[in-house]
Amino acid sequence: MGGLSSDSQGKLVTGDGGYVLEDVPHLNDYIDDLPIYPNPLRSNPAYSVVKQYFVHTDDTVPQKIVVHKDSPRGIHFRRAGPRQKVYFEPDDVLACIVTCGGLCPGLNTVIREIVCGLNYMYGVTRILGIDGGYRGFYSKNTITLTPKVVNDIHKRGGTILGTSRGGHDTSKIVDSIQDRGINQVYIIGGDGTLRGASVIYQEIRRRGLKVAVAGIPKTIDNDIPVIDKSFGFDTAVEEAQRAINAAHVEAESVENGIGVVKLMGRYSGFIAMFATLASRDVDCCLIPESPFYLEGKGGLFEYIEKVLKENGHMVIVIAEGAGQELLSESLQSMNQQDASGNKLLSDVGLWISQKIKDHFAKQNKMPINLKYIDPTYMIRAIPSNASDNVYCTLLAQSAVHGAMAGYTGFTVGLVNGRHTYIPFNRITEKQNKVVITDRMWARLLSSTNQPSFLGTKGVSDDKDEEPSAQLLDGENVQDEKTGT
Ligand code: ATP
Ligand code: MG
Repeated sequence: MGGLSSDSQGKLVTGDGGYVLEDVPHLNDYIDDLPIYPNPLRSNPAYSVVKQYFVHTDDTVPQKIVVHKDSPRGIHFRRAGPRQKVYFEPDDVLACIVTCGGLCPGLNTVIREIVCGLNYMYGVTRILGIDGGYRGFYSKNTITLTPKVVNDIHKRGGTILGTSRGGHDTSKIVDSIQDRGINQVYIIGGDGTLRGASVIYQEIRRRGLKVAVAGIPKTIDNDIPVIDKSFGFDTAVEEAQRAINAAHVEAESVENGIGVVKLMGRYSGFIAMFATLASRDVDCCLIPESPFYLEGKGGLFEYIEKVLKENGHMVIVIAEGAGQELLSESLQSMNQQDASGNKLLSDVGLWISQKIKDHFAKQNKMPINLKYIDPTYMIRAIPSNASDNVYCTLLAQSAVHGAMAGYTGFTVGLVNGRHTYIPFNRITEKQNKVVITDRMWARLLSSTNQPSFLGTKGVSDDKDEEPSAQLLDGENVQDEKTGT
């Protein structure tokens, strides 16, 4: 991988133009001194026996395994991991950790592993927790974090640091970082948080501070692009099974029973799709990416009638952002926003349950018995499961290695099964969505046997026709992300 040369955007291009490296900034890029310290892990016998423990600085990871003929080597990211040399001397480090946005299983595990990683791997002892999200930088006292303080926190849901929406005042936050002498900032949060992190990074850079800013992307919805999956997603899919099971038991126990379960997914239906595929009890899964309609041929009501006639009961899973366009103006909280400026969605679960009840009451030929379950807050609040705990640990360790090496303005993330450093802008520029013309959604349709809702609503079901641009408007690396 020798011969990397840098262009003006900070991207590195191979000498022969074979691939593009979406590089992350390094503190040396704009501060005129070099990291000269040997990595303390080099003298630790536990690591010295590991073959190739240290990542070569030129190692990269391709974004796509299957590459297009016009782009033979595609986009690469810098591989995460410990470097032979580090930018910071451990005694000089004052790190801080902040969590922002909604709750997600695994937040406490990430906090724990950043603290333990800094302390056990690098001997860093000064680590602060920022209380209550971004506004905690300037409105609250900090919390001292040690391995002892965080020892058991991964067994608890939520975040021991607290979280919040809104309250992002960039200059006050950077003032606080500067005044306290913090030189490593670990920011755990979703798309909004990472946009905030990017602004903080830019302000730090403008002021010429030697501060590394590292993000750990948090989104239970798995809607962050580029990365294989986000932490907490597996746990959410697993916990959703309990709600689906309950809905199934309720529906099965009565005549024409219908169980409706609303799951998270404001703009991306990954949790609903994977929970449905995992369960096998779901007869219909509705997600934001796949428009549906209620009345008429091929509509939802017709399908419900068919399933009830055949099986006597059914389970519907609906993602919270599904069918928003169908909700009447009166139901829509059109102009309402949360403190961070995110649009508030109407409760589609309540709405669809009422619509189904009204439809069958009007028909008067098939009395139904509908139960609606909304497990959203129960799922968000649980501790992460075993696989997410492992994932959180590796993400946290990658972030620590990256910041210690002097990288900044990056988030950590798994790309094609390898841990990488990804520039902020690549993570925040778009959302990852279920691509309903990809295999995974087709697998779901054949698993539930539900209608595709594509045929009669202006989208051709001619198999030879190219799918519409709107349907393809998702992250086009779906096969990699879903492991297919
Ligand atoms: P989730 O949506 O998964 O709950 P999130 O990180 O997107 O997580 P938000 O409430 O949207 O949650 O944002 C979290 C924090 O990031 C808030 O404090 C908000 O003020 C800040 N933030 C959001 N967008 C921006 C932005 N464009 N610039 C600066 N700060 C932002
Ligand atoms: Mg968000």
